[in-house]
Parts: sequence; C-alpha cells; structure tokens
Amino acid sequence: MTSTLPSSIASLGATPEAALPPVSLKIRQRLQDAGVSFLANDNIAEYLADGELDQLEIEVAGKVRELLRSLVIDIDNDHNTEETAERVARMYLHEVFKGRYHHQPKIASFPNVKKLDEIYTVGPISVRSACSHHLVPILGNCWIGIKPGDRVIGLSKFSRVADWVFSRPHIQEEAVMILADEIERLCEPQGLAILVKAQHYCMKWRGVKEPQTSMVNSVVRGDFRHDPSLKAEFFELVKQQDSVLST
Ligand SMILES: [Zn+2]
Repeated sequence: MTSTLPSSIASLGATPEAALPPVSLKIRQRLQDAGVSFLANDNIAEYLADGELDQLEIEVAGKVRELLRSLVIDIDNDHNTEETAERVARMYLHEVFKGRYHHQPKIASFPNVKKLDEIYTVGPISVRSACSHHLVPILGNCWIGIKPGDRVIGLSKFSRVADWVFSRPHIQEEAVMILADEIERLCEPQGLAILVKAQHYCMKWRGVKEPQTSMVNSVVRGDFRHDPSLKAEFFELVKQQDSVLST
C-alpha cells in the first residue's frame, strides 16, 4: 500500500492515517482563509467541523505525552502519569479552555416590558481563567452592574456567560472587555459596569511568590460612564456585596 504514498512519506514507513496533516493545521488554515483571529482568548467554535474537537483531543494528548517525555518523566512506568496526557487534553478542550472551543451557552433575552431602568448588580460571580503567559490559574470574583435597556436576561445567565468568557487563556484586562462586549450583545443595556478582583497564580505560585496580591480592574460603559453618581452607586453596591462575603 505504501507505494501509493509520496516517496518522502513512504520512506518514513508512515501509515496513510499518520500521513494526514494534524487536524489543528486544517483548522488553523480555515481560520486564516477566513481572515479570523485565533488568539488565546478568541472563541473558534464556529470554525470547527463536526468531529474535529474529538480529533483535536487526540492530537493534543499526543503532544502533552511528548511534553511529559521531554520533561524526562517515565510515563510508560509511572502509574500516576500514565493517563495524564489524555486528562490534560480533555481538561483544556472541555473544561478550563472550553470558552475557546465550545459555543456560547444559549441565553435568551426578553423585552423589558416594565421599562425597568433602575440599576442592579449581580455578584460575586466566581471566575476561573488561566494567564496567557504561563497557563496557570487566575481565580477571582466578578460583579456586574446593569442599567437595563430594551432587553433583559435572567440573573443566572450572567454567571454562564462569564464562565464561558473566562474559560480561556487571558490577561485580566482583556477578559473584562470581552465579557462587557458579550453582555452588551446579549441585552443592550443603557449602562454596564463590570468589576473583577482576582488572584493570579503566576504571582502566587511562581515568580515573586506574593500570596496575598490580587488584581482589581473594571470597565464602565454607557450611562455608568457618563454619570459619575451612577458609577459611584455601582461601586457602593459592590462593596456591600463584598462585605457580605467577608462576614
Ligand atoms: Zn502569568
């Protein structure tokens, strides 16, 4: 059968399956052809064909296995790391980075029939991410302030969309912006404010090893941006929710 293969591949003794280009290459090509960015914190679900996520899981597991070998870990004899590669591949694609490979959870919005226009805040919503620089955890809380517009979404939906956005490799500043864009798209509020307070394990676990440091950042849009009293009210409400946490 190898006679039908190009000589360069046949000479390596490769099977036809092994000669296929890796699925990640196919996906990257598709993204490039579409002129779409595929940075660490982009979602690429729309560009994955049926079954490709399963193939990607196999490919990633293979690479993680190679990484473990390069770290001189005896994965053939170590009962603890025997299946680590498969676990890590699954964890990246379907759990901690699922916000890259899976579609946004279905979130229905409803007309704001009562014309509510008082602000409210939701939080703390726990957020889990990983820093793009070291791929170690970023764990924290998020508060979202809304001045409703023509459409509203259920309270629990803020947790769902935050989880989806944060489950990608990120830097915190960009994560907050992307979350704001998604919420604006979902319910077009008159005003939106988001505050995130998170601990970065690349500072706690390695590097300077500062266990207590956290990073706080926020984004304010629409009426929260234009009206200082509204912005102050948001931060006051967050403070109240935060103190409930520490009691
Ligand atoms: Zn880092």
